Amino acid sequence: MDRKKILVLIFDGLGDRPISELGRQTPLQAARKENLDWFAANGINGLMDPIAPGIRPGSDTSHLALFGYDVFKVYTGRGPFEAAGVGIPVKHGDIAFRCNFATVDAEMRVTDRRAGRIKEGPEELAKALDGMKLDDGTEVLFRAGTEHRAALVLRGKGLSPLITDTDPHEEGAKVLESKPTAPVAESTAHAVNLFMRVSHRILEEHPVNAKRIEAGEKPANAVLLRGAGVVPNLEHVGERLGMRVAGIAGVALIKGMFRASGMDVLDVAGATGGLDTDMIAKARAAVEALRSYDLVVVNVKAPDVCGHDGLATEKVKTIERIDAMMAVLRTDLGPDVVVAATADHSTPVSLKDHSGDPVPLVVLGDGVRVDDVTRFDELSAAKGGLGRIVGRDLMRVLLNVANRAEKFGA
Ligand code: ZN
Ligand code: ZN
Repeated sequence: MDRKKILVLIFDGLGDRPISELGRQTPLQAARKENLDWFAANGINGLMDPIAPGIRPGSDTSHLALFGYDVFKVYTGRGPFEAAGVGIPVKHGDIAFRCNFATVDAEMRVTDRRAGRIKEGPEELAKALDGMKLDDGTEVLFRAGTEHRAALVLRGKGLSPLITDTDPHEEGAKVLESKPTAPVAESTAHAVNLFMRVSHRILEEHPVNAKRIEAGEKPANAVLLRGAGVVPNLEHVGERLGMRVAGIAGVALIKGMFRASGMDVLDVAGATGGLDTDMIAKARAAVEALRSYDLVVVNVKAPDVCGHDGLATEKVKTIERIDAMMAVLRTDLGPDVVVAATADHSTPVSLKDHSGDPVPLVVLGDGVRVDDVTRFDELSAAKGGLGRIVGRDLMRVLLNVANRAEKFGA
């Protein structure tokens, strides 16, 4: 059989609901997008429930489902993926946290949860904490993310995620002691509280903070921890599918999803994860990557950002920019590639958050049963030949079109 390569385009939060500002159309219906429509007209279309009908997916759970995992079994919280996304080489059994640099007073009361949205210096502060060993032998891995955000990983024997946050989640409140929520986590809570004390001392004395105080800025003199999660044992996607797999994304969480699933993460200059991201550069990088990889997954975050911000017109414009990206793929991809374009969930402008509405999916490739759908949007996709599938079916459907599916039975 003539095995093909696969390109999966995940437009984050692309699905939407009818919006009065757009004449009761969805942004996909309202946008001018001849290339996306060309893919719809020349492919097989359908709707996809990323996890299951009515479930409102997070980007993390949805991506896991699209990679073929049973999310109800493997998902342990977003902390581990954030940590992998900022470059911590997480291992099964590590405990990962999301954290903020914050400002506390002498009584450990939080006066600013974001340390004045610190922009310069977090890298140096993170370096001062990364690699240290706590008195109980627990190893600390620490990396800065964007602005005040950071990730912490604790590595040691018998660690458990069953502990409470040290982040009080409000200003004016004192930093909390971490407590075990089950007896098995007593030593972990102890390690976390040790980290809190040691990190506070190191940060208080750090030159970056001395400079901040001198300049009248708030010092980043504490780290607030939340969302402890154990790093799951994920069977690598490439091993499961027997393919060389790479991922392209701008945002740390999605890069972390790729890394934790065993994909190579390819850096693309100009891929920011924001509205200013260079989508054309991503398309070119994907075409290039398909020379050496069998499966390439691309995430474009921009539509989700528009959804969360409640910006209908901006979402339409973003879709038109996505269309320009599709123009590149339309001309540059050879017949040896199967392409799927879809979303990880809907982020309706009217909700400013994710919804459980299914997303459109188009699959284009030699041999697909081209249906009558000619437009790429939520309503048109419902009439397509793929019908309605769940996210976990996606890879199987694509492997079949790419002539890579294993036969089940004789
Ligand atoms: Zn998402
Ligand atoms: Zn979102």
